[in-house]
Amino acid sequence: LLDLPPDELRALGHYVWDRLVDRWETLDEQPPIAPIDPDWGPLRLGPCPDGPSDATETIDELFDAILPRGQRADHPRFFARIGSPSTYVGALADAAAAGVNAFTGSWTGGSGPSAVDLTVIDWLRGWCGMPEQTAGVLTSGGSLASLTAFAAARQARLGGPSGTGVVYVTDQTHASLPRAVALLGERTRVLASGAGQRLEPAALRAAVEEDRRDGLQPFCVVATAGTTSTGAIDPLRELHAASRELGLWLHVDGAYGAPAALTPGGAAALDGLGLADSLAIDPHKWLFQPYEIGCVLVREPGLLERVFSLEGAYLRDTAGGSVNFRDRGPELTRGARGLKLWLSVRTFGLDAFRAAIAHGIALAEHAEARLRERDGWEVVTPASLGIVTFRRDGLDDGAHTRLSAATVEDGYAAPSTTVVGDRVVLRLCTINPRTTFEEIDATLDVIERLARRDALGG
Ligand SMILES: *Cc1c(COP(=O)(O)O)cnc(C)c1O
Repeated sequence: LLDLPPDELRALGHYVWDRLVDRWETLDEQPPIAPIDPDWGPLRLGPCPDGPSDATETIDELFDAILPRGQRADHPRFFARIGSPSTYVGALADAAAAGVNAFTGSWTGGSGPSAVDLTVIDWLRGWCGMPEQTAGVLTSGGSLASLTAFAAARQARLGGPSGTGVVYVTDQTHASLPRAVALLGERTRVLASGAGQRLEPAALRAAVEEDRRDGLQPFCVVATAGTTSTGAIDPLRELHAASRELGLWLHVDGAYGAPAALTPGGAAALDGLGLADSLAIDPHKWLFQPYEIGCVLVREPGLLERVFSLEGAYLRDTAGGSVNFRDRGPELTRGARGLKLWLSVRTFGLDAFRAAIAHGIALAEHAEARLRERDGWEVVTPASLGIVTFRRDGLDDGAHTRLSAATVEDGYAAPSTTVVGDRVVLRLCTINPRTTFEEIDATLDVIERLARRDALGG
């Protein structure tokens, strides 16, 4: 039951991989975001079958009718939100991990894959400039990484749940962070960002003093190392100093931007990154891995275990070993997320990753320079860590929203919009190493053509 003959399995495996390579070879001919077909939905997939059917046919349905629906986050002209230009080698490692059902909840259950997780966590630590004793755990992504960090921060600063604990963020902080604080039952205070969409230490000091007077328990400040909207970087060193003075935990959200520290320019921009008490980083964004892999790094060793250690009579035979990742985060059963980063860095070498990240930074700078040369465009936020935002003169907010949608619909490239100050802006996030400078130029041509059409009321 539930088995196929080895030959058939081999053939199906080759077939799936061929279909994947076909997709990668022809990706460029597809739109970065498939248009939504309002008539398509789960009903099209038919009822649950009681008997068997041909796997090849179902795999064809998967590749022909199902997987093409949605965004192609690895498309060279996917500039919306934050892409995921994942390496094919990372996907191979995911297949291998799924194939043996690799487990990293305990050392007994998976000392091999757990050792790989420890290895990549240590790589990430080193890239971010955190000290050697720093501990970490791989998560599904940035959302869970920051949730894990806040639980550790609360333990360290307040000794456990309080209900009156306060975490400071800005209006530019990713929305998953206030959600994490709410899930933990603590409070978020949102500070207005200042010049350059950055957190101002003076605003933090004033808010903390006020909240302490009101009997609340400020315990953590979030600094974002590369905001999702504009790539802005909070003043990390200044916030570190303020956090020491105020007795706060410094959580740095580098989910998007931290990998830039691998490049000279990025390292300069992210000066102070390694001062974090905890840091979130998402290899499934700018380290070119398929979903899902995030990571939280915590400076104080043993703290995660103090928060998350799990005991159960049924687990007594699996204690000990170098690490039991079930004791470092809220998941017990966990797959082997580290394998993909490990295999792809081993395959290409770290220099290739450095060059790939630097290319993304250069693409956004190129877009900014071209926009400044052209008439009729305003650069709203300059290129920062691979993100640039801009506006067309004479078009209002609604027209910018329409312009972005029309560009996506046109099918050549996919920008997105965000809000800076109180204005809707267009936004390009250019982190795909396969994107060329010519494609940036051509994308701006398309947007300009459609902008003229909108300006003419077409
Ligand atoms: C993407 C992102 C997150 C959320 O990470 P997920 O992997 O989507 O859970 C958090 N913070 C920043 C800055 C991000 O860009």
